Amino acid sequence: MIKSLFQKFKKVAQPKTIKLGRADHIISRKNISPNALKVLQRLNQAGFEAYLVGGGVRDLLLELSPKDFDIATSATPNEIKRLFSNCRLIGRRFRLAHILFGREVIEVATFRANHQSDNAENQHSKTSATGMLVRDNVYGTVEEDAFRRDFTINALYYCSKDFTLTDFTGGLADLKNRQLKLIGDPESRYTEDPVRILRAIRLSTKLNLNIESKTAKPIVKMAHMLTHVSSARLWEEMNKLFLSGYASTIWKNLLTYKVANELFPQTTKALKYDSYDSKTSNIRTTNNNHSVESSSPQDFSDFIYEALASTDKRIYQDLPVTPAFLFAVLLWKPLLDSISFHINKGLKPYVAYQKASTQVLNDQLALVSIPKRFSSVIREIWDLQSKLINQKPRQIYSVLSHPRFRAAYDFLCLRAGKDKQLSQLANWWTQIQLQDSQGQETMIGYLTRQSTKSNQRRRNYKGKQNKRRFTK
Ligand code: ATP
Ligand code: MG
Repeated sequence: MIKSLFQKFKKVAQPKTIKLGRADHIISRKNISPNALKVLQRLNQAGFEAYLVGGGVRDLLLELSPKDFDIATSATPNEIKRLFSNCRLIGRRFRLAHILFGREVIEVATFRANHQSDNAENQHSKTSATGMLVRDNVYGTVEEDAFRRDFTINALYYCSKDFTLTDFTGGLADLKNRQLKLIGDPESRYTEDPVRILRAIRLSTKLNLNIESKTAKPIVKMAHMLTHVSSARLWEEMNKLFLSGYASTIWKNLLTYKVANELFPQTTKALKYDSYDSKTSNIRTTNNNHSVESSSPQDFSDFIYEALASTDKRIYQDLPVTPAFLFAVLLWKPLLDSISFHINKGLKPYVAYQKASTQVLNDQLALVSIPKRFSSVIREIWDLQSKLINQKPRQIYSVLSHPRFRAAYDFLCLRAGKDKQLSQLANWWTQIQLQDSQGQETMIGYLTRQSTKSNQRRRNYKGKQNKRRFTK
């Protein structure tokens, strides 16, 4: 009886369903991808219910251009597959269909329903020991589907048959008030899927919305649950966060909500490193080029923000970006600190670098699985730093033609910051790129003469020392 009373109360507390006709909303078919409209039409013609939902509807209502179009339908994944020859079924935890139109992918999901707690483990639904939903394939009605979605503003359903817009969860009012609100009890919804924490941070930043107080409150306390999410899924989410065009504000929010501590513990540790040992921090040696600068936590923080801001700018300008570059940045001071640690233990700089880079990358990989093709780029960016600093005339052309030269050079420019010595080096590499082949040869020739002179000086010095040693 208590249960049914509770359910009754819950029903009363639910917002009233709102259905708007064509004249009462701004969604127009001309702003919807023709492929998404085709999919909706075919599903409808086959007798299934089908709606545009999620980010597509939300962004159109905010007068933004949607990144992609998601569809929700009463057809099961197999029924969808039978209707579309260009369909691929994906996902185990959350089975859905991708309909492929060249490079455009229309995501079609079957209406989800709530999970009954007494039936929490069966072939359609499964919960982990921490309460996380590891399988979410219980199908239901459109209204049930709305309550399984994450935020109210993501649960608005557009019907291309009669052009109506249906809101079951209060999303329209939240959009109007520019607030991001989780559907249902925030703690249970984060427990079911901690990735919703990352989605809250990403969407609120990208859309400039306030996270509603009840939705925001548990984040700090529950951020640790993100470590239970598969490292592969976290990698996908990291890409969405950092390549959204709003990475620098997102990073600030990841720090504020203590999410960064969970996903980048080495980075946040290095950011707080204010009791830096002056003996080890000033390792401005010529042979240990991986730890050229003694970056303070503040310098490191500036370095990160500059890298993120430059990535945001590149995205805005439609220039290519790689998440490897940002990971190389986020792990840079942890790498320098680890090199110092190993050098202090008596390792040679190069061996210390090898050991430190493997260790720092592996520790990060345990949390976020960086695919090999990206982790190798991180290492190449780091490896090239010593070649950019320790300019060897004979290696200049091979450095310039290295596939990762551009990224490593950008990395050096960011590292240079206020550092005069590094800025001079970065300038040299800027200049050589601007020269024609004759100009490049002149610059390299000058470098050769300089290095011959300094070698000569070194030899003379050694000679004098030896002479002294022998004459004493
Ligand atoms: P965008 O595509 O602009 O990044 P989006 O909200 O469309 O934002 P998608 O990942 O495409 O994000 O998801 C589509 C929809 O699926 C969401 O709008 C939401 O309704 C639902 N959804 C996505 N992830 C979750 C989740 N973790 N829990 C519940 N619902 C989700
Ligand atoms: Mg989407």
